[in-house]
Order: sequence, then C-alpha cells, then structure tokens
Amino acid sequence: MGTAPRALPAHSSPRSPREAQAWRGAPRGAPQDKQPGRTPGPAPRQQDGQDITYLRSGLGQQLPGLAQGPTVQPKPLSFTPAPAKSPAALTDRHGPAPAPGTRSGGLGAGPGGPSLGKGPGPGRCPTGTRQHREEEAAASAARRWDGTGRDGRGSRAEEGSGAALPPHPALHFEPRSQPGAKRRGTRWHREGCPQPGPTAAAGSARHRALQLEPNVVRVGRVAAGLCQELRLARPEICRQAVQLFQRDVVAAWARSVLRPAEACGLLLGPRCGHWDIYGAWNVSLPAAPKPPVRPPVPPPPGAPSARVLFLTDLHWDRLYTPGSDAACPDPLCCRGAARPGPGGAGFWGEYSKCDLPLHTIAGLLAQLRHAGPFAAAYWTGDIPAHNVWQQRREDQLLALRTVTALLRQHLGTLPVYPAVGNHEATPVNAFPPPYVHGNQSSAWLYDAMAEAWKDWLPPPALETLRAAGFYTVQVWPGLRLVSLNMNFCSQANFWLLINSTDPAGQLQWLVGVLEAAEQQGEKVHIIGHIPPAHCLRSWSWNYYRIVNRFEGTIAAQFFGHTHVDEFEMFYDEETLTRPVSVAFVAPSVTTYINLNPGYRVYEVDGAYNGSSHAVLDHETFILNLTEANVPGAEPRWQRLYRAREAYGMASAFPADWDLLIRRFQDDERLFQRFWYHFHKGHPPREPCLEACKAALLCALRTGRSADPSLCRVLRPARPFRQILQLWRQRQLC
Ligand SMILES: [Zn+2]
Ligand SMILES: [Zn+2]
Repeated sequence: MGTAPRALPAHSSPRSPREAQAWRGAPRGAPQDKQPGRTPGPAPRQQDGQDITYLRSGLGQQLPGLAQGPTVQPKPLSFTPAPAKSPAALTDRHGPAPAPGTRSGGLGAGPGGPSLGKGPGPGRCPTGTRQHREEEAAASAARRWDGTGRDGRGSRAEEGSGAALPPHPALHFEPRSQPGAKRRGTRWHREGCPQPGPTAAAGSARHRALQLEPNVVRVGRVAAGLCQELRLARPEICRQAVQLFQRDVVAAWARSVLRPAEACGLLLGPRCGHWDIYGAWNVSLPAAPKPPVRPPVPPPPGAPSARVLFLTDLHWDRLYTPGSDAACPDPLCCRGAARPGPGGAGFWGEYSKCDLPLHTIAGLLAQLRHAGPFAAAYWTGDIPAHNVWQQRREDQLLALRTVTALLRQHLGTLPVYPAVGNHEATPVNAFPPPYVHGNQSSAWLYDAMAEAWKDWLPPPALETLRAAGFYTVQVWPGLRLVSLNMNFCSQANFWLLINSTDPAGQLQWLVGVLEAAEQQGEKVHIIGHIPPAHCLRSWSWNYYRIVNRFEGTIAAQFFGHTHVDEFEMFYDEETLTRPVSVAFVAPSVTTYINLNPGYRVYEVDGAYNGSSHAVLDHETFILNLTEANVPGAEPRWQRLYRAREAYGMASAFPADWDLLIRRFQDDERLFQRFWYHFHKGHPPREPCLEACKAALLCALRTGRSADPSLCRVLRPARPFRQILQLWRQRQLC
C-alpha cells in the first residue's frame, strides 16, 4: 500500500531571478494582476455550443465577505443555499444540458471572480517551478484513473517510457530488478504497470495525434486505444472508463476551458499537453490577533473522556462474491461468479485488490455494541467500491442509502457526522464547485446525502451540505465539528482546472467558523476525507496557515482516504519546529489493497467545563482475515493496538507525535511496529528499509503539500535530494 501520494518539488525556494519568475508563474499566460482570482496559465477559450453554464451565483454571492476581497471578513454562519437544482439533475444524468451562459463565476470561478490575496512571500504560497507543475500534472492525471487519489508518479516515467499514463491499481511492494542496469533496491509499484518498450513508440504517435486533434470524442477514442495498447486494463474496461470520463468531465472542460493540447495532457500526461492549476492565492485571516499559545496539558484527574467511533473508506462492493477470482487482471477483483478450487476470494474479504461484501461491514457494525459506548461517530466517506470505470449515479446513490441505513440500524441513536469522500461521485473525483448548475452539478449527490443524513444533522448543516458538501454542527456544548469537503482541495478533481482558488469559498468559510468559535470559547474538531498534505499546494498551504492561526481552537483533525494508518504533523510557520497540531489519518474499513478490514476509536477529553476536547489516545481494531476466513471460524474483531501503550507515549498531544517520529528514526523496532500498524497488521513481505523509512518519516512530518523543508530536521543519512527521489519512487506507477 502506498504511503504518501504527496508531491515534493525539487527545491523549496527560488534560487535565481529566472527561477523566482517561474515560482510566480508569470511567464505563462496573462499576468496575474490582470486575472484576479484566476490561476496563471492559458486563458480560457470561449466556444460555441458549450454545455455547461458558469454563473456568478451560489456561495460566492451568499457570503459577502468572500466576494469582496481579502480585507473583508466573511459572515460564516449566515449561509444561504444555492438556487434550487433542476429536477432533471436528480433523475436524468444525461438529460438536456443547461443553456450556454457566461463564465464569469462566483468565488474562485475564473476571470472576473473576486480576488483573494496572492503571490509568494513570507507565509504565502509559492506556485512552484514549471518542472514541478508538470510533475504534478503527470501525477494528477494518473490519480484520476486510479480513483484512490494516490499519486500516479512512478518508475515508468522516470525510465523514459513517455507520458504518465493511467495506472493499473494492483499495488505490490516488491523488489524490482532493472534489466541491464544496476539494481536500485525496492520500490513501490503496481503489478501490471506497462513497461517501456515498443508500446512507448505507439504512445508517442498517439500523443502527436492528440495534439493535433481538437475533437474531444476523438480524443477519447485515441485514449481508449492507448489504454488497450499499453495493456492498462482489459479492452472493455478501457472503453468504459474513457467513455465515462470523456462524456462527463473531459468533454465539459475541453469545450469550455481546455485547448486540445491541454485536454491531451489531462488524459495522458504532461508530454502530451500542459495545463496549470497551481496558481497561488491566500485566504484572509482575522484582523484580531492570535490569542496567546497555551501548551496542552492532560485533563484533571477524574475528568470524563469520550470515545468517538471513526469509520472511513468502507468501499462496499455490491458484486463481491466469496470464491470468485481474487487475482483477476481487472482493477477490482473478488467479484462475479464463484469458481471451483482453492484461491478464491474469502468469505469476509481478501488480501488482494478487492473491496468488501456488505456482510463484513454489517459484521463490524454489529459487534460495536460490545465495543462501545461511544459519544459520537465520525464517518469520513468513500462508500462505493473501486469499480470506477462503470459506476452510474444510481449505483452511487444505492451505496449511499444502503450503507447509511446499515449504520442507522446498528448505531441506533448515536450521532453520526459524515464527510464526503472522493468516491461518492461518478466519475470518481468529479466535484464541480457550486457555480456549476444543472445536470452537471453535484446536486444529485448532495441532495441525496442531505436526505439520507437528515436525522443526524440539523437544518443549517443540511443547507450547506446541499450547497457544497460541507457543514458545521455543535457536537456537544463546548465542541463544534467542521466537516470539510476535501474534494475541493483535490488535484484529482477535474473541475478545479477551471479555477482552483478556494473552491466554493470553503476555506474562507472555515476561517469564519473558527473565528466565531474562538470568540465563543468553543473547541473545534475538523473531519474530512483527503488529508491536507495530499491537497493542491495553495489549498494545503492556506489550510496550514489556518491551523496555525487557530491552534488554540482546533482541538483535533481527523482524515482517511489513504487506507493506511498514519498521521501528518503541523508545525508553527515561523520556525517549523514547534508542533501545533496533528492530522490523524485512520486506516480504512476496506481491505483495498492487501489489508485487513479495520476501524478506529478516538478517546478525547470529554464534555465538561474547560475541556480541551483534545485526543488523549486512540485504538485501532481489525478483523484478521487469515483467521476469519478459515472454514467454520467465527469472525473476531480485535484491538490491534492502543497508540500510547504501543508507542510508549506520555500523552497524545502534537509534541508527543513529533517526538515519536524522532524516536522512529533511532529505534528500529519501534519503527517496524509502526510499519506493521500502518498496514493494519498485514504488511508486505518486504520490510521497510532505509530508503522507505526516510521517505515515510518525511511524509509524517509534512502536513502541507510539496514542502521539503519540513523534512530537513530529520537529517537523513542520504542527501535530501535523494530522499525526495526515493519518495517519488515509492509512489504508485
Ligand atoms: Zn478510499
Ligand atoms: Zn478516497
């Protein structure tokens, strides 16, 4: 299982005037000062017949602070929903398209949109070098196909085979010898990744054809051909995947925003075309000074604590069949007809590229009555399976409703607070910001979520959920929850190509919520699906600033998405040495890929006057599939470990996790224990040796994307540049 799909640039700051220019992104496209709120890069083309309408409306208009520039503070809690959605959006996926309109956009919607502060500077967000942007683009293109959001950069591109291409998602960690070359040790890669060879030449020809070809349907056809030639998947899967993405997303962009070469780059990577969504921008922080920092202290003796159930990445596969082929060539296995003989999918799940049957999820939920009591449940998304090439809207909604009903059945009156995952939509990762209306908006999904979750969330939260997939709610007196829609930070969200500046105004809204909480003496838990270091750079750096400013208010952060058990550190922005927060990244419920099913319970400072509501400890539970799948065995969910006990931590505050990373460096046994937990008790055969370890520790220190400076303090034995390269090699191909 891959660790961190994070991208690090080759260096962190400009080293020459020319490079400084590249960081600002000025050489390409229109000057930034002429396109406020718009990323630098090619100007959008207006074309006749475009089938999406971008209107200045929705969130940007409803939050006046957002629409008036950086000096005006938002009114975060006076949130009005977007205009009513077309009924067709709920029922007819490919119904009549909205009439062509203007593309001025609301907040972050493109040219004409409001301007947030931008440009590099102290504490601001650099745009990165062109080379880095191209690497990001390659990784981003691959991630789209992966559907997991994990990074697609990998060995194939390094070996010169051509553009970054959609990966085959069967992940293994295996020694990989380089034919005719000195062995370079182990690296992450995906089984079945196409290797360089004759097919690369075919790919180049395809690239040239694509660069010349403006018709998006033909672009899709060529992409399907390339997918088959490079044996990325079976022809049928290639055809379905390309058709799905082309029809619903690529077509929209290509007609309204992208030039042919950009559409090609989107599909096949930066050697085919280039686009730029990495412009810098800043949200506005409150004028009120940051309150004095008070180091966290343990709760007083006898103070109540609360246990919060944490579920993430359930990935229910409706077609999971015990006894079916667990080693199929497709991106998702253990489905279809059972077959005779050994080697078939296990009854409760399988160590392979498989998701879970419903009875395993139901079994998890059923045994929770012995594992409680819980004060609340946080549920951070990714409900459907990984068969992303063939999912229809009705499939996604069936998964949403079925699993929601299952949770309600087993959890009873326990308050459940969900967050939106990247797999909830189809095509996967496609989350248009609220200025997109009509059939291509996310109304079909958010409306269904609001309906399914209406017993768990109060009306104001349902309103913002319907509008943009995020919300805030009071969990109990003194504790507020913010559920972020992290798809608006995602490099894999196609729609952010139009404009990636604070999509839906979410971060500015977050600032407003935190400011109000600070004034009222509330603490805040933040939940979301994709962890912050996996986000687009400017989003991630802004989020880091917000966490810094509100370190006294944000009591904890909880995420999922990577399927493995890890965390991301946040440090003070001035010195990058004082730990200020931890983003916990909990392991998945699903087995995908090669994992045990699992879930997490957080123990937090409880509901009493003066509570910090901080995380005091956490426990991780698994179902050991080797034991459970033995014929006649009863499934036994068991605690894999308790964090403070397993790692010998005095407490679970940010400084303790920072110290733990340093201890991992020196204590190999302790680090190997972490590696075992990282994989939910089912690690790959090959151990995590020096290079793997250096890259993983670097990832744990990096709470914001593309910031190598956060790793320097580790002083790894290898040159820093090499560590970064190794990190990239660990990525999936
Ligand atoms: Zn997932
Ligand atoms: Zn995910």
